[in-house]
Amino acid sequence: MKESFSLDALLRDNIKKLVPYSSARDEFKGEASILLDANENAFGSPYSKNFNRYPDPLQHRVKEKLYKIKGVPAENMFLGNGSDEAIDILYRAFCEPGKDNVILVPPTYGMYEVSANINNVAYRKVNLTMDYQLDLDNIAGAIDPYTKLIFICSPNNPTGNSIRRQDIETILVNFQGIVVVDEAYINFAKQPSFSKNLAEFPNLVVLQTLSKAWGLAALRLGMAFASREIIDIFNKIKPPYNINQATQDIVLEALDNVDMVNEWIKEIVAERDKLTVSLERLPQVARVTPSDANFILVKLEEPRRLYNFLVDKGIIVRDRSKVELCEGCLRLTIGTPGENKVLLQAIHTFYNTTA
Ligand SMILES: *Cc1c(COP(=O)(O)O)cnc(C)c1O
Repeated sequence: MKESFSLDALLRDNIKKLVPYSSARDEFKGEASILLDANENAFGSPYSKNFNRYPDPLQHRVKEKLYKIKGVPAENMFLGNGSDEAIDILYRAFCEPGKDNVILVPPTYGMYEVSANINNVAYRKVNLTMDYQLDLDNIAGAIDPYTKLIFICSPNNPTGNSIRRQDIETILVNFQGIVVVDEAYINFAKQPSFSKNLAEFPNLVVLQTLSKAWGLAALRLGMAFASREIIDIFNKIKPPYNINQATQDIVLEALDNVDMVNEWIKEIVAERDKLTVSLERLPQVARVTPSDANFILVKLEEPRRLYNFLVDKGIIVRDRSKVELCEGCLRLTIGTPGENKVLLQAIHTFYNTTA
């Protein structure tokens, strides 16, 4: 019989005891005409727009708009300086350096491991199976009482496939720690988001980002969706003003253009499927992993030589050919129709085949 989930038992002692920084904007809320509480420059900014006031620490307006798009209430939402900030906070909240551990399921996004190393937290790698799905038996075997987090990326980077929902639910139900489901590519997927299931799973953290489908990578805005209790912990740890005013302003405007983004997603998915079919026709291509993302992982002949050939033509793709379980593979991001055509033509030229 499984014990019930206890957030308190997972939290590090120092975080439990932490008294968060209380900013001027936390202590005064409401409308004021004279703000002399935060040592700002009351004259303005040496710029065409004023940025002299500290931004809203909890980004209420942005969250309200995201709620309308994602259906996740503000109290279940954390906004970070990219999802990478959320990943780092998860380690700092739950993992005692030199004592606790996390489970990673490679081949997957590299930041989980880097962030573990930065925080001096051990990780246990349980490779995905040959078809890039979770190896549930070996994951169960790797869990010990010090295992605090399991990172699952779905659709997975760099393989592009979605992880079976049933398997993620099995881990959510049976693991006493936090299950992080990274949905950076969910907008391109056929699968529904786990953000609809927060009430069911108190140990679920869903990560999303505006960096991929939303085309706002430079603004650095990542999201974490979780229970209110977990979000409160995120907010307690984060730097007080982690999302700057320029980002909040621009994101607020950009979020009005959902239709444009949805059109792009349709076009990217169509281009992805077209490029997949074209590549599968080449005898030098052994496999294109069916993708639910805006990139494809392609196993082909002479990957490194092809990579260099493409670089010489000014086309940069990601060489994953030395990564375990991705041997011989390049990862190709889907570009504009024109870019994809140039890429395909270059691959034909390299292999001396005709389109
Ligand atoms: C690109 C990517 C992210 C995005 O990170 P940001 O910091 O939000 O730009 C997160 N997870 C995965 C798996 C990614 O591929």
